[in-house]
Amino acid sequence: MKFNTELIHGNFDGDAFLGSTNTPIFQVSAFAHESPEKLEKVFANKAPGFAYSRIGNPTVAAFENKISALEKGIGAVACSSGMAAVTMALLNILESGDEVIAAAGLFGGTIDLFGDLKAFGITTKFVNHVTVEEVEPLITDNTKVIFAELIGNPALDIVDIESVAELAHKNDIPLFIDSTTATSYLVRPIEYGADVVIHSSSKYINGSGNAISGVIIDSGNFNWNPEKYHGFKEYEKLGKFAFISKLRNGIWRNVGACLAPMNAFLNTLGIETLGLRTERLCYNALKLSEYFETADGIKVNYPGLESSPYNSLAKKYFGGHGGAIITIRAGSRERAFKLMNNLKIPLIATNIGDVRTLVIHPASTIYTHSSEEQKINAGVYDDTIRISIGIEDVEDLIDDFKQAIENI
Ligand SMILES: *Cc1c(COP(=O)(O)O)cnc(C)c1O
Repeated sequence: MKFNTELIHGNFDGDAFLGSTNTPIFQVSAFAHESPEKLEKVFANKAPGFAYSRIGNPTVAAFENKISALEKGIGAVACSSGMAAVTMALLNILESGDEVIAAAGLFGGTIDLFGDLKAFGITTKFVNHVTVEEVEPLITDNTKVIFAELIGNPALDIVDIESVAELAHKNDIPLFIDSTTATSYLVRPIEYGADVVIHSSSKYINGSGNAISGVIIDSGNFNWNPEKYHGFKEYEKLGKFAFISKLRNGIWRNVGACLAPMNAFLNTLGIETLGLRTERLCYNALKLSEYFETADGIKVNYPGLESSPYNSLAKKYFGGHGGAIITIRAGSRERAFKLMNNLKIPLIATNIGDVRTLVIHPASTIYTHSSEEQKINAGVYDDTIRISIGIEDVEDLIDDFKQAIENI
């Protein structure tokens, strides 16, 4: 089956008893069982079933199964937010004394998280771009994970996953990919060697900006040697399922980072149109960026344009698409603010992956606490505007940006 058919019909999750076409919202905290013997088995993972919604819930499981199948993983764990997913994925493998190698231009929340982890003895070495040349010299015996965003936001730099995965595996290190901005439609990072994939499903998976959530997908491919990853001693016997089982039975359930059933349902609903939306978003983004290339006083950055240094990687990994985020530089902070004030259609909001076009001035908002160096690494200048493209008719968006620019 191709993407959209598999998305709708593959790994079907309905309700075997009543024939509902989608898994209903099991809005309950606990599940009763007919005997203590049965509940004992459910608790010990020796019988299928659910006990308590922090540990598992059918609506959440339906979402996890869908995204795991789309990403070609062996299992997924849904979390209360994208940040919870990033945190849980890392804490499932790291301990005091460990080192992470990551891009300096990561999503701001993830950069801040690496700062928080210092208090627990986990340190991060930052590279400007996650490339073999920059990462290799920083690898030590303590390096336990390489963490990258497939398309950096808002720098819009693209990681050549294949070559970085090869370097990581040569050194027995797993590659974690935050694939939020790339979407499960454009690329399945596991097919290129990523070991663990993370999404802030608040964004493109949900699609309508109506619930915060995150998800971790495990490839099952990394060999978690307990000599190096000490927490894996008792999970080694589970083979391919070691990472996901440890996560589900350990830090994720103990922190209580579970996803609410209602939000899982909204995601399952949203994901059904992921393919349709992403096609439209990429089309709109390309057309709008082509207009920006002709606009006076505007510099545009979009991986789908031939002028982008990342165009060849976009072609390699995203089948010619460029994603759904564009950044433009307006010449000065004042011009950027005037342009945004002149816009009639896009909303001024700090989110991406909505059906509505959203604009933000990153330097005065998301990056307001960042150093000059951090801003430059993230491609954030005083005159940068980030555009998260929506599914509106692109002619209307072009007309709106045209009048907004002309009226600066
Ligand atoms: C939004 C985002 C996150 C964090 O997700 P939340 O759902 O807001 O917690 C992590 N990584 C990337 C790339 C994001 O865009």
